[in-house]
Amino acid sequence: MKLLKQDIKNYWFGLFIAVMVCVILDRIFGTCCPLRIVTGYPCPACGTTRSFEALLRFDFKTALWYQPVMPLIIAYCLFFSYRRYIKPDERIKLFGGAMAAIIIIGILAYFYRMYRYFPERPPLEYTQNNIINQLRRVCHGI
Ligand SMILES: [Zn+2]
Repeated sequence: MKLLKQDIKNYWFGLFIAVMVCVILDRIFGTCCPLRIVTGYPCPACGTTRSFEALLRFDFKTALWYQPVMPLIIAYCLFFSYRRYIKPDERIKLFGGAMAAIIIIGILAYFYRMYRYFPERPPLEYTQNNIINQLRRVCHGI
């Protein structure tokens, strides 16, 4: 519990800032995804929030659709929390490798899903109101 309190004390402000930036971007652009805001294309993490919301409703099929690696993310978080706060383990480097594997699997799933489902099915849709499109309109006087 001491380590948990220390982590909260060390990281609460950074987490608060990240949440606030996301809320502000969402208010302005309708999303907090930097890639979608700039290019209009979804990134591998797009749909994660909607996946988590579906999980809270116990709608596992929808959760998997929005973020196929969600089970891996949850397993990672549970295992990481267990090893950090309940039964500490010095082999913390293993967690970095597991995180890298989850990211690689997520990126591979993203390319497959982009090939298969883009742009018809959310979260794999194109957002017209993006910065590059706005600049293009300004430059061409549209
Ligand atoms: Zn994204």
